[in-house]
Amino acid sequence: MAIALAHPKHGYYRTRDPLGRAGDFITAPEISQTFGELLGLWSAVVWQTIGLPQPVSLVELGPGRGTLMKDALRAARRVPEFLAALEVHLVETSPALKTLQEGALRESGPALHWHAEVTTLPARASIVIANEFFDALPVRQFVRTKDGWAERMIGEKDGALCWTAGEPLLDDSIIPADLRGAAEGSIYEISPAAQGVIEQLAAVINQNGGGLLIIDYGHVRSALGDTLQAVKAHQYHDPLKHPGEADITCHVDFEALASAARRAGLGVFGPRPQGEFLRALGIEQRLETLVAQNPEMEEELRGGVERLIDPGQMGRMFKVMAMGKKDVPAFPGFD
Ligand code: SAH
Repeated sequence: MAIALAHPKHGYYRTRDPLGRAGDFITAPEISQTFGELLGLWSAVVWQTIGLPQPVSLVELGPGRGTLMKDALRAARRVPEFLAALEVHLVETSPALKTLQEGALRESGPALHWHAEVTTLPARASIVIANEFFDALPVRQFVRTKDGWAERMIGEKDGALCWTAGEPLLDDSIIPADLRGAAEGSIYEISPAAQGVIEQLAAVINQNGGGLLIIDYGHVRSALGDTLQAVKAHQYHDPLKHPGEADITCHVDFEALASAARRAGLGVFGPRPQGEFLRALGIEQRLETLVAQNPEMEEELRGGVERLIDPGQMGRMFKVMAMGKKDVPAFPGFD
């Protein structure tokens, strides 16, 4: 997964802009401007909640085309003191997307800084947003074989990639105790990379204050199951076919992220379904204002918001979880 997505020459994210109708998939900020706008105002209120630190970093992990941040910064103009206090930090590995982000954000106002990983973010109060970022981080899978749990590996057969199992684990304590007795063929996933990102951000937030907002598709409780999936041109695709040509993701295990955050001393809000969260932030009111201002775009505007909040579309499958210093007052959308 790491090689297929991030190989310097052939990696999926290194070589293209995967987003949008012409790309392989489409994300919330590309569907409706209200998404980034509400998250910009969410950030401003979090900034007030944590005591108006100056300066403050507004950080985005995996900013795609820069659309979310652009909409967020436009909305943040309503809170000029916040806009004046903030510096924008973007964590991005893709040169192609970084170029698009530069173009989208050049005229937004605040100073812009790019990072290849979270480890180089400055030690200061930080409000961090990650939409569809954690699902792109590589996972390890374990499979229950007749001889016990083994790591699921990728081999080669007749010139094609295939699944295999490694040697049975001598110590299977990596599998949660209540899942260890699962039936043969069961699969369990962990994401050490995702936990590493949480630990890094927890260190920054514990020391300097801040908040982290994670929006992604995934499950509320750790569970068995193979969630690795590949998508190419808006269609599901065999993850072992055309590595580097298809997007590969996994469902986010919110319980695992919450546990990592709590172990690192943070407080956790949610997860709650995206539809509920966006409604709590006032997406419907914002929609009516936009419709009144742009009546000729009514259908498109309503369709976009519907897609984000409808439980049958993105409203339930996508979840929102926030983290902050322990005992911080509830962040907006979680009170
Ligand atoms: N947040 C955007 C894009 C989601 S796609 C949106 O909602 O539209 C995933 C993003 O994460 C892309 O920008 C991709 O280049 C970036 N990304 C994937 N793996 C990464 C990694 N390991 N480190 C930093 N960025 C990564």
